[in-house]
Amino acid sequence: MTEPRPEESRETDQDDSQERPRQRFVLEDTGFDEVPKKYRRFYRRWDGPSDILAPNEVLCPVCRLVMRSTRELRPGDRLYCMPCMSRLIVGVGDGGRLEATVHYE
Ligand SMILES: [Zn+2]
Repeated sequence: MTEPRPEESRETDQDDSQERPRQRFVLEDTGFDEVPKKYRRFYRRWDGPSDILAPNEVLCPVCRLVMRSTRELRPGDRLYCMPCMSRLIVGVGDGGRLEATVHYE
C-alpha cells in the first residue's frame, strides 16, 4: 500500500484544458512541525476568521489546519490531510469561499 500524498494531483490535467490555467504557487515552510519535514510546507496553522486564505489554501474541517497546494484549488479537487488523515474534497461554502468537506470512498 502506498502512502497517499498530501496533494493527490491528477495524472493529467486534460480535463482542465477548457478552463483557465491554474495559478501556481511556491510554498514555503511556515514552521508547522507535526508532519515530516518534506510535507511541512503543505500545512500551516489557521489564525481564525480574520485569516484570509489564498486561492491555493483551504481549511481542513477536521483539524482546522490550513492545507496548501502548489496550484490554485478548485471545487472538486481532492486533498489528503496528513495530520488528521482525512480525505477531503474541495467545494464552495458560504460566501463563495472554498471549503473542504470530508470525503468517504
Ligand atoms: Zn486535517
